[in-house]
Amino acid sequence: MIGRLSVRKRMKNTIFLSVLLMITLLVRIGYIQLIEGDELREKAYAQQTSDRAVNAKRGTIYDATGKTVLAVSSTVETVTVNPTHIKDEDKEKVAQELSLLFELDYDTVLKKVKKRSSIETIVKKVDKDKTNLLREWLEQNNITEGINIDEDSKRYYPLNNLASQVIGFCGSDNQGLNGIEAKYDDYLKGKAGSISKVTDASGGTIEDNPEEYNEPQDGDDLVLTIDASIQAIAEKYLKEACIDNVCTDGGNVIIMNPKTGDILALAGYPDYNLNDPFAVDESLPKEEQSTKMQSLWRNKAISDTYEPGSTFKLVTASAALEEGITTTDKAGEFTCIGYIDVAGVKMKCWRYYRPHGPESLRQALMNSCNPVFIGLGEKIGVHKYYEYLNKFGFFRTTGIDLPRRSKFNIFKRRKSRPSRTWHNCIWAKI
Ligand SMILES: [Zn+2]
Repeated sequence: MIGRLSVRKRMKNTIFLSVLLMITLLVRIGYIQLIEGDELREKAYAQQTSDRAVNAKRGTIYDATGKTVLAVSSTVETVTVNPTHIKDEDKEKVAQELSLLFELDYDTVLKKVKKRSSIETIVKKVDKDKTNLLREWLEQNNITEGINIDEDSKRYYPLNNLASQVIGFCGSDNQGLNGIEAKYDDYLKGKAGSISKVTDASGGTIEDNPEEYNEPQDGDDLVLTIDASIQAIAEKYLKEACIDNVCTDGGNVIIMNPKTGDILALAGYPDYNLNDPFAVDESLPKEEQSTKMQSLWRNKAISDTYEPGSTFKLVTASAALEEGITTTDKAGEFTCIGYIDVAGVKMKCWRYYRPHGPESLRQALMNSCNPVFIGLGEKIGVHKYYEYLNKFGFFRTTGIDLPRRSKFNIFKRRKSRPSRTWHNCIWAKI
Protein backbone atom coordinates (compact mmCIF):
# COMPACT_ATOMS: atom_id res chain seq x y z
CA MET A 1 0.00 0.00 0.00
CA ILE A 2 2.65 2.38 1.05
CA GLY A 3 4.76 1.43 -1.93
CA ARG A 4 1.93 1.87 -4.47
CA LEU A 5 0.95 5.20 -3.02
CA SER A 6 4.44 6.42 -3.22
CA VAL A 7 4.71 5.31 -6.90
CA ARG A 8 1.54 7.19 -7.74
CA LYS A 9 2.81 10.22 -5.87
CA ARG A 10 6.11 10.01 -7.74
CA MET A 11 4.27 9.79 -11.07
CA LYS A 12 2.16 12.78 -10.14
CA ASN A 13 5.29 14.75 -9.32
CA THR A 14 6.94 13.73 -12.58
CA ILE A 15 3.91 14.77 -14.63
CA PHE A 16 3.70 18.01 -12.73
CA LEU A 17 7.37 18.75 -13.36
CA SER A 18 7.08 17.83 -17.06
CA VAL A 19 4.11 20.14 -17.52
CA LEU A 20 5.98 22.90 -15.71
CA LEU A 21 9.00 22.38 -17.95
CA MET A 22 6.87 22.46 -21.06
CA ILE A 23 5.19 25.69 -20.00
CA THR A 24 8.59 27.24 -19.29
CA LEU A 25 9.86 26.16 -22.71
CA LEU A 26 6.76 27.51 -24.44
CA VAL A 27 7.18 30.85 -22.70
CA ARG A 28 10.85 30.95 -23.70
CA ILE A 29 10.06 30.08 -27.35
CA GLY A 30 7.38 32.73 -27.39
CA TYR A 31 9.84 35.24 -25.99
CA ILE A 32 12.49 34.45 -28.58
CA GLN A 33 9.98 34.48 -31.42
CA LEU A 34 8.08 37.58 -30.50
CA ILE A 35 10.45 39.74 -28.53
CA GLU A 36 13.96 38.88 -29.67
CA GLY A 37 13.02 37.69 -33.16
CA ASP A 38 13.95 40.81 -35.11
CA GLU A 39 17.23 41.28 -33.33
CA LEU A 40 18.27 37.65 -33.86
CA ARG A 41 17.26 37.74 -37.51
CA GLU A 42 19.48 40.80 -37.98
CA LYS A 43 22.37 39.07 -36.21
CA ALA A 44 22.03 36.00 -38.41
CA TYR A 45 21.93 38.17 -41.52
CA ALA A 46 25.05 40.02 -40.42
CA GLN A 47 26.78 36.69 -39.78
CA GLN A 48 25.81 35.24 -43.12
CA THR A 49 26.53 38.26 -45.28
CA SER A 50 29.63 40.39 -45.26
CA ASP A 51 28.90 43.85 -46.63
CA ARG A 52 31.47 46.27 -47.87
CA ALA A 53 30.39 49.89 -48.40
CA VAL A 54 31.20 51.51 -51.72
CA ASN A 55 31.51 55.24 -51.26
CA ALA A 56 29.65 57.49 -53.65
CA LYS A 57 31.56 60.07 -55.61
CA ARG A 58 31.01 63.53 -54.10
CA GLY A 59 29.71 66.21 -56.45
CA THR A 60 32.13 68.69 -58.01
CA ILE A 61 32.23 72.30 -56.79
CA TYR A 62 32.67 74.87 -59.56
CA ASP A 63 33.22 78.63 -59.44
CA ALA A 64 30.74 81.11 -60.98
CA THR A 65 31.98 80.46 -64.52
CA GLY A 66 30.97 76.82 -64.18
CA LYS A 67 34.35 75.89 -65.63
CA THR A 68 36.94 76.31 -62.89
CA VAL A 69 36.90 73.32 -60.58
CA LEU A 70 37.30 74.17 -56.89
CA ALA A 71 36.75 70.69 -55.46
CA VAL A 72 36.58 67.34 -57.20
CA SER A 73 36.52 63.68 -56.23
CA SER A 74 39.02 61.36 -57.84
CA THR A 75 38.75 57.59 -57.93
CA VAL A 76 40.95 55.76 -55.46
CA GLU A 77 40.69 52.34 -53.86
CA THR A 78 40.22 50.89 -50.40
CA VAL A 79 41.66 47.53 -49.34
CA THR A 80 39.81 45.30 -46.88
CA VAL A 81 40.28 41.68 -45.88
CA ASN A 82 37.94 38.86 -44.85
CA PRO A 83 40.32 37.10 -42.42
CA THR A 84 38.34 33.84 -42.38
CA HIS A 85 38.78 33.50 -46.14
CA ILE A 86 42.56 33.73 -46.07
CA LYS A 87 44.30 30.36 -45.72
CA ASP A 88 46.28 30.02 -42.48
CA GLU A 89 49.51 29.29 -44.34
CA ASP A 90 49.08 32.53 -46.38
CA LYS A 91 48.35 34.88 -43.48
CA GLU A 92 51.90 35.94 -42.68
CA LYS A 93 52.81 36.31 -46.34
CA VAL A 94 49.72 38.50 -46.95
CA ALA A 95 50.42 40.68 -43.91
CA GLN A 96 54.03 41.07 -45.07
CA GLU A 97 53.02 42.20 -48.55
CA LEU A 98 50.26 44.54 -47.36
CA SER A 99 52.51 46.25 -44.81
CA LEU A 100 55.32 46.65 -47.35
CA LEU A 101 53.13 47.95 -50.13
CA PHE A 102 51.15 50.46 -48.08
CA GLU A 103 53.88 51.33 -45.56
CA LEU A 104 51.97 49.96 -42.58
CA ASP A 105 53.12 48.35 -39.36
CA TYR A 106 53.52 44.60 -39.95
CA ASP A 107 52.24 43.51 -36.50
CA THR A 108 49.10 45.63 -36.79
CA VAL A 109 48.32 44.22 -40.23
CA LEU A 110 49.03 40.64 -39.10
CA LYS A 111 46.67 41.10 -36.16
CA LYS A 112 43.90 42.17 -38.55
CA VAL A 113 44.58 39.32 -40.97
CA LYS A 114 44.43 36.78 -38.13
CA LYS A 115 41.37 38.28 -36.42
CA ARG A 116 38.22 36.18 -36.18
CA SER A 117 35.99 38.73 -37.87
CA SER A 118 34.23 38.94 -41.19
CA ILE A 119 35.85 42.16 -42.40
CA GLU A 120 38.84 44.36 -41.52
CA THR A 121 39.95 47.58 -43.23
CA ILE A 122 43.65 47.61 -44.14
CA VAL A 123 44.06 50.90 -45.95
CA LYS A 124 41.70 53.57 -47.24
CA LYS A 125 41.91 55.81 -50.30
CA VAL A 126 45.09 54.65 -52.01
CA ASP A 127 46.06 55.33 -55.61
CA LYS A 128 45.41 52.71 -58.25
CA ASP A 129 49.14 52.34 -58.99
CA LYS A 130 49.57 50.71 -55.61
CA THR A 131 46.48 48.53 -55.69
CA ASN A 132 47.51 47.33 -59.15
CA LEU A 133 50.78 46.12 -57.65
CA LEU A 134 48.73 44.25 -55.06
CA ARG A 135 46.60 42.71 -57.81
CA GLU A 136 49.74 41.46 -59.56
CA TRP A 137 51.12 40.02 -56.34
CA LEU A 138 47.85 38.23 -55.56
CA GLU A 139 47.86 36.69 -59.03
CA GLN A 140 51.48 35.58 -58.77
CA ASN A 141 50.82 33.99 -55.39
CA ASN A 142 47.56 32.47 -56.50
CA ILE A 143 45.55 34.08 -53.71
CA THR A 144 42.01 34.49 -54.97
CA GLU A 145 39.99 35.00 -51.85
CA GLY A 146 39.89 37.09 -48.71
CA ILE A 147 41.37 40.34 -50.02
CA ASN A 148 39.04 42.97 -51.46
CA ILE A 149 40.05 45.98 -53.49
CA ASP A 150 37.07 48.32 -53.78
CA GLU A 151 36.53 51.59 -55.53
CA ASP A 152 36.47 54.64 -53.29
CA SER A 153 36.75 58.38 -53.83
CA LYS A 154 39.07 61.02 -52.50
CA ARG A 155 38.50 64.77 -52.36
CA TYR A 156 40.99 66.93 -54.20
CA TYR A 157 41.19 70.72 -54.32
CA PRO A 158 43.07 71.72 -57.50
CA LEU A 159 43.62 75.33 -56.36
CA ASN A 160 45.00 74.41 -52.91
CA ASN A 161 44.59 77.50 -50.69
CA LEU A 162 42.11 79.38 -52.86
CA ALA A 163 38.88 80.23 -51.01
CA SER A 164 39.84 77.68 -48.36
CA GLN A 165 37.63 79.19 -45.65
CA VAL A 166 34.64 79.27 -48.02
CA ILE A 167 34.97 75.79 -49.49
CA GLY A 168 35.96 73.82 -46.37
CA PHE A 169 37.06 70.18 -46.49
CA CYS A 170 35.91 66.61 -45.87
CA GLY A 171 36.66 63.90 -43.30
CA SER A 172 37.99 60.41 -44.02
CA ASP A 173 34.47 59.13 -44.71
CA ASN A 174 33.91 61.83 -47.32
CA GLN A 175 31.65 63.83 -45.01
CA GLY A 176 31.79 67.64 -45.29
CA LEU A 177 33.37 69.13 -42.17
CA ASN A 178 33.60 72.81 -42.92
CA GLY A 179 32.37 75.64 -45.17
CA ILE A 180 30.40 74.82 -48.32
CA GLU A 181 31.39 71.14 -48.03
CA ALA A 182 29.53 70.99 -44.69
CA LYS A 183 26.66 73.31 -45.61
CA TYR A 184 25.76 71.42 -48.80
CA ASP A 185 26.83 67.98 -47.60
CA ASP A 186 23.38 66.49 -48.21
CA TYR A 187 23.51 67.42 -51.89
CA LEU A 188 27.20 66.75 -52.50
CA LYS A 189 27.61 63.43 -50.71
CA GLY A 190 25.37 61.18 -52.82
CA LYS A 191 24.39 57.74 -51.55
CA ALA A 192 26.87 55.00 -50.70
CA GLY A 193 26.46 51.64 -52.43
CA SER A 194 27.47 48.22 -51.15
CA ILE A 195 28.86 44.85 -52.08
CA SER A 196 27.00 42.05 -50.31
CA LYS A 197 28.21 38.52 -50.19
CA VAL A 198 26.22 35.65 -48.70
CA THR A 199 28.40 33.39 -46.58
CA ASP A 200 27.86 30.22 -44.55
CA ALA A 201 28.00 30.14 -40.73
CA SER A 202 31.80 30.04 -40.68
CA GLY A 203 32.06 33.05 -43.00
CA GLY A 204 32.88 30.95 -46.08
CA THR A 205 31.48 31.76 -49.52
CA ILE A 206 28.40 29.86 -50.61
CA GLU A 207 28.94 28.51 -54.13
CA ASP A 208 26.76 29.88 -56.95
CA ASN A 209 26.07 32.95 -54.90
CA PRO A 210 28.04 35.75 -56.46
CA GLU A 211 28.56 39.13 -54.90
CA GLU A 212 25.66 41.50 -55.12
CA TYR A 213 26.73 44.98 -56.17
CA ASN A 214 24.54 47.93 -55.24
CA GLU A 215 25.81 50.84 -57.25
CA PRO A 216 26.47 54.04 -55.28
CA GLN A 217 24.63 57.21 -56.30
CA ASP A 218 27.00 60.07 -57.06
CA GLY A 219 26.39 63.44 -55.40
CA ASP A 220 25.13 66.61 -57.11
CA ASP A 221 27.49 69.24 -58.48
CA LEU A 222 27.47 72.76 -57.07
CA VAL A 223 28.16 76.09 -58.79
CA LEU A 224 29.16 78.97 -56.50
CA THR A 225 28.83 82.71 -57.05
CA ILE A 226 32.52 82.98 -56.17
CA ASP A 227 34.61 83.83 -59.25
CA ALA A 228 38.00 82.12 -58.97
CA SER A 229 39.82 84.94 -60.81
CA ILE A 230 38.35 87.70 -58.62
CA GLN A 231 38.96 85.54 -55.54
CA ALA A 232 42.62 85.06 -56.51
CA ILE A 233 43.13 88.81 -56.99
CA ALA A 234 41.43 89.62 -53.67
CA GLU A 235 43.58 87.04 -51.87
CA LYS A 236 46.81 88.29 -53.45
CA TYR A 237 46.30 91.91 -52.41
CA LEU A 238 44.85 91.03 -49.01
CA LYS A 239 47.96 88.99 -48.23
CA GLU A 240 50.24 91.80 -49.39
CA ALA A 241 48.32 94.36 -47.30
CA CYS A 242 48.38 92.14 -44.19
CA ILE A 243 52.13 91.59 -44.48
CA ASP A 244 52.97 95.22 -45.34
CA ASN A 245 50.86 96.57 -42.46
CA VAL A 246 51.83 93.84 -39.99
CA CYS A 247 48.19 92.84 -39.35
CA THR A 248 48.84 90.04 -36.87
CA ASP A 249 45.14 89.12 -36.72
CA GLY A 250 44.96 88.83 -40.49
CA GLY A 251 42.20 90.37 -42.57
CA ASN A 252 39.20 89.82 -44.83
CA VAL A 253 37.94 91.09 -48.16
CA ILE A 254 34.41 90.60 -49.42
CA ILE A 255 33.51 91.50 -53.00
CA MET A 256 29.82 91.60 -53.79
CA ASN A 257 27.70 92.31 -56.82
CA PRO A 258 25.61 95.22 -55.43
CA LYS A 259 22.74 94.48 -57.81
CA THR A 260 22.23 90.84 -56.89
CA GLY A 261 24.02 90.43 -53.56
CA ASP A 262 26.11 87.63 -55.08
CA ILE A 263 29.41 87.10 -53.27
CA LEU A 264 32.08 87.21 -55.98
CA ALA A 265 35.02 86.83 -53.60
CA LEU A 266 35.36 86.19 -49.90
CA ALA A 267 38.99 86.23 -48.97
CA GLY A 268 40.56 85.59 -45.57
CA TYR A 269 44.18 85.79 -44.53
CA PRO A 270 45.92 83.73 -43.22
CA ASP A 271 44.46 80.74 -45.06
CA TYR A 272 45.33 77.04 -45.34
CA ASN A 273 45.82 74.32 -47.93
CA LEU A 274 42.57 72.43 -48.45
CA ASN A 275 44.52 69.34 -49.50
CA ASP A 276 46.24 69.25 -46.12
CA PRO A 277 43.85 70.89 -43.62
CA PHE A 278 45.31 69.14 -40.58
CA ALA A 279 48.86 70.37 -41.20
CA VAL A 280 50.18 71.98 -38.04
CA ASP A 281 52.89 74.49 -37.37
CA GLU A 282 55.45 72.29 -35.61
CA SER A 283 57.22 75.26 -34.09
CA LEU A 284 54.19 76.02 -31.89
CA PRO A 285 53.65 74.36 -28.48
CA LYS A 286 51.32 71.31 -28.71
CA GLU A 287 48.36 72.96 -27.00
CA GLU A 288 48.49 75.95 -29.35
CA GLN A 289 48.63 73.88 -32.53
CA SER A 290 44.97 72.89 -32.44
CA THR A 291 43.82 76.44 -31.61
CA LYS A 292 45.86 77.76 -34.50
CA MET A 293 44.40 75.16 -36.87
CA GLN A 294 40.81 76.00 -35.81
CA SER A 295 41.49 79.69 -36.29
CA LEU A 296 42.80 79.09 -39.83
CA TRP A 297 39.65 77.13 -40.68
CA ARG A 298 37.32 79.85 -39.33
CA ASN A 299 35.77 82.15 -41.89
CA LYS A 300 36.19 85.37 -39.93
CA ALA A 301 34.37 87.42 -42.57
CA ILE A 302 31.10 85.84 -41.48
CA SER A 303 31.73 84.48 -37.99
CA ASP A 304 33.46 87.39 -36.27
CA THR A 305 32.00 90.80 -35.54
CA TYR A 306 33.85 93.99 -36.22
CA GLU A 307 33.02 97.60 -35.51
CA PRO A 308 31.95 99.16 -38.79
CA GLY A 309 33.77 102.40 -38.00
CA SER A 310 33.53 105.21 -40.52
CA THR A 311 31.82 103.04 -43.11
CA PHE A 312 28.68 103.53 -41.01
CA LYS A 313 28.72 107.25 -41.81
CA LEU A 314 27.06 106.30 -45.10
CA VAL A 315 24.08 104.87 -43.23
CA THR A 316 23.71 108.00 -41.10
CA ALA A 317 24.13 110.26 -44.14
CA SER A 318 21.52 108.29 -46.14
CA ALA A 319 18.99 108.44 -43.28
CA ALA A 320 19.58 112.19 -42.83
CA LEU A 321 19.16 112.85 -46.58
CA GLU A 322 16.00 110.73 -46.72
CA GLU A 323 14.57 112.64 -43.74
CA GLY A 324 15.35 115.97 -45.44
CA ILE A 325 17.58 117.06 -42.56
CA THR A 326 20.54 117.84 -44.82
CA THR A 327 21.56 118.32 -48.45
CA THR A 328 24.63 117.06 -50.24
CA ASP A 329 26.47 120.21 -51.27
CA LYS A 330 25.42 123.23 -49.20
CA ALA A 331 28.69 125.09 -48.59
CA GLY A 332 29.40 125.65 -44.89
CA GLU A 333 26.29 123.74 -43.73
CA PHE A 334 28.41 122.28 -40.90
CA THR A 335 31.32 123.60 -38.91
CA CYS A 336 33.86 121.27 -37.30
CA ILE A 337 35.45 122.76 -34.21
CA GLY A 338 37.36 119.56 -33.41
CA TYR A 339 34.77 118.02 -31.12
CA ILE A 340 31.04 117.82 -30.31
CA ASP A 341 29.40 117.77 -26.92
CA VAL A 342 26.97 114.84 -26.49
CA ALA A 343 25.12 114.52 -23.18
CA GLY A 344 28.06 116.08 -21.38
CA VAL A 345 30.67 113.93 -23.13
CA LYS A 346 33.15 115.66 -25.39
CA MET A 347 33.55 113.55 -28.51
CA LYS A 348 36.52 114.37 -30.65
CA CYS A 349 36.96 114.59 -34.40
CA TRP A 350 39.92 112.53 -35.50
CA ARG A 351 41.50 115.82 -36.63
CA TYR A 352 40.78 117.62 -33.35
CA TYR A 353 44.22 119.29 -33.39
CA ARG A 354 43.38 121.09 -36.66
CA PRO A 355 39.56 121.13 -36.98
CA HIS A 356 37.95 120.85 -40.40
CA GLY A 357 36.03 124.14 -40.05
CA PRO A 358 33.10 124.87 -42.42
CA GLU A 359 32.13 122.00 -44.72
CA SER A 360 29.24 120.54 -46.75
CA LEU A 361 27.90 117.01 -46.24
CA ARG A 362 29.92 115.75 -49.21
CA GLN A 363 33.06 117.36 -47.74
CA ALA A 364 32.27 115.98 -44.28
CA LEU A 365 32.11 112.48 -45.79
CA MET A 366 35.36 113.05 -47.67
CA ASN A 367 36.97 114.31 -44.46
CA SER A 368 35.39 111.53 -42.41
CA CYS A 369 34.52 114.26 -39.92
CA ASN A 370 33.02 112.64 -36.85
CA PRO A 371 31.18 115.61 -35.19
CA VAL A 372 29.07 116.20 -38.34
CA PHE A 373 27.67 112.68 -38.29
CA ILE A 374 27.20 112.61 -34.54
CA GLY A 375 25.21 115.84 -34.96
CA LEU A 376 23.14 114.36 -37.78
CA GLY A 377 22.47 111.25 -35.71
CA GLU A 378 21.17 113.42 -32.88
CA LYS A 379 18.88 115.28 -35.27
CA ILE A 380 17.47 112.05 -36.69
CA GLY A 381 16.84 110.82 -33.13
CA VAL A 382 17.31 107.37 -31.66
CA HIS A 383 13.82 106.12 -32.59
CA LYS A 384 14.03 107.12 -36.28
CA TYR A 385 17.65 106.04 -36.46
CA TYR A 386 16.78 102.50 -35.38
CA GLU A 387 13.95 102.47 -37.88
CA TYR A 388 16.51 103.10 -40.62
CA LEU A 389 18.86 100.46 -39.24
CA ASN A 390 15.97 98.05 -39.48
CA LYS A 391 15.08 99.17 -43.01
CA PHE A 392 18.70 98.66 -44.07
CA GLY A 393 18.35 95.09 -42.79
CA PHE A 394 20.93 95.34 -40.02
CA PHE A 395 18.79 93.40 -37.57
CA ARG A 396 18.49 90.41 -39.86
CA THR A 397 21.15 87.83 -40.71
CA THR A 398 22.65 88.23 -44.16
CA GLY A 399 21.19 84.95 -45.38
CA ILE A 400 24.59 83.82 -46.63
CA ASP A 401 24.61 80.04 -47.01
CA LEU A 402 27.67 79.28 -44.95
CA PRO A 403 27.81 77.70 -41.49
CA ARG A 404 28.61 79.58 -38.27
CA ARG A 405 27.66 83.10 -39.31
CA SER A 406 27.15 85.72 -36.64
CA LYS A 407 24.49 88.36 -36.21
CA PHE A 408 24.78 92.13 -36.35
CA ASN A 409 25.65 93.38 -32.93
CA ILE A 410 24.14 96.62 -31.67
CA PHE A 411 22.80 98.05 -28.44
CA LYS A 412 19.11 97.43 -27.87
CA ARG A 413 17.21 100.65 -28.44
CA ARG A 414 15.96 100.90 -24.87
CA LYS A 415 19.49 100.54 -23.57
CA SER A 416 21.00 103.08 -25.90
CA ARG A 417 22.13 106.40 -24.53
CA PRO A 418 22.99 109.08 -27.06
CA SER A 419 26.71 109.08 -26.38
CA ARG A 420 26.85 105.29 -26.40
CA THR A 421 24.85 104.82 -29.58
CA TRP A 422 26.60 107.46 -31.58
CA HIS A 423 29.94 106.43 -30.28
CA ASN A 424 29.48 102.85 -31.34
CA CYS A 425 27.58 103.31 -34.53
CA ILE A 426 29.07 106.36 -36.03
CA TRP A 427 32.11 107.44 -34.23
CA ALA A 428 33.90 104.14 -34.05
CA LYS A 429 37.48 103.67 -35.10
CA ILE A 430 38.35 104.95 -38.54
ZN1 LIG B 1 36.17 117.31 -38.25
